[in-house]
Order: sequence, then C-alpha cells, then structure tokens
Amino acid sequence: MNRMLATAQSTVREAARRLRHDDETIEAFLRAAHEHVFEVTAGGKTYPAYRVQHNNKLGPFKGGIRFHPQVTLDEVRALALLMSIKTAAAGLEVGGGKGGVAVDPRSLTEAELEELSRDYARKLAPYIGSDRDVPAPDVNTNGKIIGWMLDEYEKTVGHADPGCFTGKRLTDGGSEGREAATGRGGVVALGEYLAQQHLLHEPLTVAVQGYGNVGYYFAKVLRELHPNLKLIAIANSKHTWFRGSGIDATTVANPAMLADAMVMDRDAIIGIDADILVPAALENAITEENAAVVPAKIIVELANGPITAGAERILLGRGVQVLPDVVANAGGVIVSFLEWRQNLKHEHWTEAEVNAELADILLTATREMIIRARQQGLSHRQAAFDLALGRLIG
Ligand code: GLU
Repeated sequence: MNRMLATAQSTVREAARRLRHDDETIEAFLRAAHEHVFEVTAGGKTYPAYRVQHNNKLGPFKGGIRFHPQVTLDEVRALALLMSIKTAAAGLEVGGGKGGVAVDPRSLTEAELEELSRDYARKLAPYIGSDRDVPAPDVNTNGKIIGWMLDEYEKTVGHADPGCFTGKRLTDGGSEGREAATGRGGVVALGEYLAQQHLLHEPLTVAVQGYGNVGYYFAKVLRELHPNLKLIAIANSKHTWFRGSGIDATTVANPAMLADAMVMDRDAIIGIDADILVPAALENAITEENAAVVPAKIIVELANGPITAGAERILLGRGVQVLPDVVANAGGVIVSFLEWRQNLKHEHWTEAEVNAELADILLTATREMIIRARQQGLSHRQAAFDLALGRLIG
C-alpha cells in the first residue's frame, strides 16, 4: 500500500480509538463513498485518471485535481481522506475528495493539456456539481486548467454552474486571494503558533522546499506580515539556493535568478540550518532516513503528507514541533470554500474581506488544535485529527 495512505489511515484509526469508536465505525469511515477510475486522452495517448469522493457528511465532496506522473489510485485515496479531515478540522461545510491524472504535464503541448483537462471534466461531469462535488487545483493544475474544465462541464450538463469548480481565474468567477491562499494560510498558522510560544518577534530563519504557487506565496506573505522571520533558503525540483543574508521573495519569482546564493543539490534544503522548515512540494519529503538530521525546530507542512509516520516519531522524539498539513495548508481549501459561497450567492468579495475571513477560520482551527494538543498531551496532528473526527463520526 502507498505509504501516505497507510499513514493517513493509521492516524485516523488511532484518533478514532481515542474517541472510543468501534472498529466497524472506523472502517466504514475510511471507505470512500465513490471511486471513479477512468482514462483520459490527449494527443492520441491515454492516461489513468481518478476522482475519489471520500466523505460528504458536512457538505459536497471538495478537493483538488493533480496532474503528476506519480499519481496512483492509492495516492488519490490518501489525499481524499486528508481532505475530509482538513475541511472538518477547519469547520467548513464541505467534505473531502481528490482527483488526479497520471501524466507529466510538461510532456504535453498546450493544446494537449487543454484536451486532457476537457476530457477529464467531460467524463466526470455526471458525478460533480456545486451541490455534489467541487474540484479545485492541486499540484500542476491552475486557474487556466480549471477554466477549461468548468467550460467543458457546463457544456456537457447544459447549464451554467460556476460553483462546480473553485480556484478559477477572476474572469471565470474566481475569488480574490485564492491564488495566494494556501501560502497565506501557512503564514497565519505559523504566526499563531509562534505567538502562543512567545516567539513571534524573534529573529528566526526559514527554509522553504518547493517554489511553486504554495511555497512562493508563503515566502511573499511571510515577508509582508513577519519581516523578522528571515527566509534563507529555497528549493525547487532541481536545486537548493542558500543565502544567509536573506532572500526577498517579493522580487524572486524564479530562484535561478537569485544573485550571490550558494547553489546546492535539491535535497540539501532538508538539512539547512534554519529554525523553521516549510516542506511545500510533494509527499514523503521527510522520511526515517533524513528525519534525524533535520536541524529545524519547527516544521510547517504546506505540502500534503510531506512527513512519513516513522519520520514524525523521530522528529517528535527530538522535540521538533510539527504544524500538520490538515491545518497548516488548509488556507487553499478555506478560500475555495469562500469562492464557492460567493458563487452560490452571486457575490464578489474584496481581497481584504476574503483574507479577513480566511484568517478568522484558520486562526480558530489553529487555536483549537494547539489547545487540545496541550490539554490532552497529544501531537498537533493527533489533536487536529481528533477534532475533525469528532465532527465526522457520531
Ligand atoms: N488542493 C488543495 C488542497 O490540497 C485545495 C483543495 C481545494 O481548494 O478544494 O487542500
């Protein structure tokens, strides 16, 4: 079984036992409501495609669609389960789901990418909708791709339903603040944790792994809201760049443009001597093999599932604090939820309104998690899962 799926399931089983649910109830919760397994075509080739609709107790299934060569059904199952926990931990009135296509989008032309995206939406059209399942972007998907999918979906079902997808461009009915939302939410969650620890005004250093949408906006918003937290290293899928004097993310959209930085190999970012490490790339970045050498004292999970279960045991044993994905990266789905609400009410909120609402929801979720962890002697992740399952089962 996929490592992330095994980890997510065992974290749920442990939480459900703490909450005294019987095995039958736990296993029923773990089973997805629906699993759609199909194929999509682009440029004459076919690719495996998935949409797992995990849980809709609190509202329509909700979660992104990723395009990545390593996508498998088990990976999508794990990510769908994490979405159910994430939306419930944030107290949103939506459920959990995830989609994916096993394709390297860099191998496609623009026309093929559009063909693939449209085929995905057409095949899924009977099973989604603003009241059933509301997909969004994830790894390697964005507002443009979501725009093609929404257009194809509306043509297939024969009526307008902009609330069927979130993460849309503004011109397609998207929300202000959605693009930066996951990164911004990470800053909000980290800021709240640091405030509780009386560390908010300390001159701490930060290293960010992954410089796509999430890592980039995290670095940018961090500089705006907490200039005392100094970004000293960033990494993408090729290299790590280190500059002890600090990196100004507001001017560095592409790390390769960074002057006077030390260039190291891709994985060097994990071992950078920074106070805070922010994995914002893919799952399983921190494993039992490298967990013992992570110098950071705080890890903010902006990717989904970046720390394996074995690695987390080592980190917690060493006193490293982990802000788990299901809260730390919930900013994206929170603003997706706000976008969906705006679509349903035919409203368009200002960026300031959206950001205020995002901060409100995420601060509540972060505080609840920290308080429960402290009161019950749990890790942050255990506390977040307990809070979510309390809303999902029972
Ligand atoms: N893909 C994002 C996540 O993993 C956002 C999902 C959404 O906006 O529905 O949380």
